[in-house]
Amino acid sequence: VIQVRHLAKSYGDTVVLRDVSLAVPEGSVTAMIGPSGAGKSTVLRCMNLLEKPDSGEIEIDGHAINAGEKISPKNLAALRRSAGMVFQHFNLFPHMTVLRNISLPQERVLGRNKDEANTKSMELLTRMGLADKADHYPARCSGGQQQRIAIARALALGPRVMLFDEPTSALDPEVGVEVLEVMKELASEGMTMVVVTHEMGFAANVSDELVVMADGGIIESGDPHQIMSDPQHERTRRFLRAVL
Ligand code: ATP
Ligand code: MG
Repeated sequence: VIQVRHLAKSYGDTVVLRDVSLAVPEGSVTAMIGPSGAGKSTVLRCMNLLEKPDSGEIEIDGHAINAGEKISPKNLAALRRSAGMVFQHFNLFPHMTVLRNISLPQERVLGRNKDEANTKSMELLTRMGLADKADHYPARCSGGQQQRIAIARALALGPRVMLFDEPTSALDPEVGVEVLEVMKELASEGMTMVVVTHEMGFAANVSDELVVMADGGIIESGDPHQIMSDPQHERTRRFLRAVL
């Protein structure tokens, strides 16, 4: 469902991505690892056009964008809607209740009315085991709860793929586990996911494909167990030594 072809991006003179290509089949999970500054977040941000690539093509669920051509607003909206994004720092709206955080985007993006949106939100909160938090403000929820609320907010829009950018790295390990469990469940239900993570357990046990990035490019990719037990690239070896 996801095709990224020859993606490139620079900020001024700084080349951040050079020729990144990636294919993620329907229902599969791709984990992305690599040192800080490798360009992992930029790849995800380009995928749903939070960042505009300088060149290359992105296709999600049949909605294609070519950086070299004029991007139609309709195509842009469709592509954004097909990809749900979850960030390291949750990015919930602090001045809204948990329920409102999940309902408002449904009203804005999908045109659902308040009742429909709230019903959907409660269904997802119940699934996350957080129905009792609906009327709380995010600040009163733990980090792990806030991240599950952020996942519920993304899922409420019915995305075809989910993009996760280090969803557990701001969390204590015990709390991170709750979030990883939710992600694992999503994966087992067949959600197509790209997950930037340093959780090598998740990468090994849940992901179908492991992508290693360094210096703005993909240096190796393939079977997670294969790469972890027999990395081909010196940069991969160095990175794995640091995180394992
Ligand atoms: P980390 O593991 O630390 O999150 P990353 O692999 O996600 O790293 P990116 O956030 O994609 O890396 O950043 C890649 C490079 O792009 C970094 O060198 C960063 O300084 C640079 N960069 C990112 N955003 C901008 C920006 N808005 N302006 C200038 N440089 C940027
Ligand atoms: Mg990052």
